[in-house]
Amino acid sequence: MAHVITLNAGSSSIKFALFEDHAVEPAALAIGLAEIDGAARHIKVRDAVGTITHEERWESRADVGFHTDTLQRVLAWRRTAFPHAQVIAAGHRVVHGGPTMSAPAIVTDEVLAYLRTLVPLAPLHQPHSIAGILAARDAWPHVQQVACFDTAFHRGQPFVADTFAIPRHFYDEGVRRYGFHGLSYEYVSQKLQRIAPHHAAGRVVVAHLGNGASMCAIRDGLSVASTMGFTALDGLPMGTRCGQLDPGVVLYLMQERGMSADHVADMLYRQSGLKGLSGLSHDMRELEAAGTAEANQAIEYFISRIRRELGGFAAVLKGLDAMVFCGGIGENSWHVRERVLEGMEWIGVELDRTANRAGADIISTERSRVRVFVIRTNEEAMIARHTIEVQRAAI
Ligand code: ADP
Repeated sequence: MAHVITLNAGSSSIKFALFEDHAVEPAALAIGLAEIDGAARHIKVRDAVGTITHEERWESRADVGFHTDTLQRVLAWRRTAFPHAQVIAAGHRVVHGGPTMSAPAIVTDEVLAYLRTLVPLAPLHQPHSIAGILAARDAWPHVQQVACFDTAFHRGQPFVADTFAIPRHFYDEGVRRYGFHGLSYEYVSQKLQRIAPHHAAGRVVVAHLGNGASMCAIRDGLSVASTMGFTALDGLPMGTRCGQLDPGVVLYLMQERGMSADHVADMLYRQSGLKGLSGLSHDMRELEAAGTAEANQAIEYFISRIRRELGGFAAVLKGLDAMVFCGGIGENSWHVRERVLEGMEWIGVELDRTANRAGADIISTERSRVRVFVIRTNEEAMIARHTIEVQRAAI
């Protein structure tokens, strides 16, 4: 039985998982998280039902970077915990695939060089994706590396959906809407094809609501529009990111208030969204529990932007057959789902409040014209599936 390891590398954390190839969907044998914790580094691994099976803590080393250091530990853990696993490839979540990457790809030197040219487009994320690939190549020189792009799912969007109305040459130079969360949308869309093929073949809006949040309009399994744009700042407000913003605000802050580009970037990426509006937390659970006026307003704003995008996407799709909620908030907050769908009968949604509050998988009534699903997204499983497919095609 073939196995793959998936890696999702951030600045101070790496999510990893070991998957076994199965007919319907790769099965996770173990899911791990490595993090920097003060002066120490730390790994925690759980099995498929969430039981902790391995924990390790060690002092940071100045001579070895976090990614390299961690992957050597992951390799050693894999050898001990799953000595018989035949790891055929490592699949990486790569934030940006630029205008050309519309499918997962085996990482060659050329691909790596191309990914480096995209760093200016995603300076906060892309360097970590690349560091993860380099560390994996060092740790497992004989294992094929496969890059799975968060932008690839959206690459087929029509021009009007991925352009900005700025002078045209910028589009050709790569200044366009890329959309992100593509691995999540692809997973959800394929799952919908299995559980509700008729709806999946129609007009679907997916709301991926987590710390990062976005929405995507999908027709017949293909992305036709998304709320995230050139960067992962646009669209819905998020845990700490602002979401849609008049660019004039940025000009004002820099020209009139003398804020530097770095200062504005920090504010828009890390001090805004739910955290900025509530003055309390980026975390929806904490805001729902807090009940202060500011926390409630932050939640209201979040909900109101989701409703606007839902209406807009229904217009783009010329109607709606299904809607899906996913991500930590979409999967768990009945309150947010209820408020998003309140008074949406005109669009064809009739919410089954009882089912929604009970955490059911389908939360629309029997007679609702639009069927509403809650689907647990699984970006790691999507990376594993892509990695197996790409590896097989290469043999
Ligand atoms: P990420 O984008 O980092 O993967 P997640 O998809 O895990 O984030 O989503 C995290 C968000 O989900 C947080 O705002 C968290 O409060 C929210 N969340 C998780 N469980 C619940 C819950 N039971 N009720 C409300 N919000 C929840």
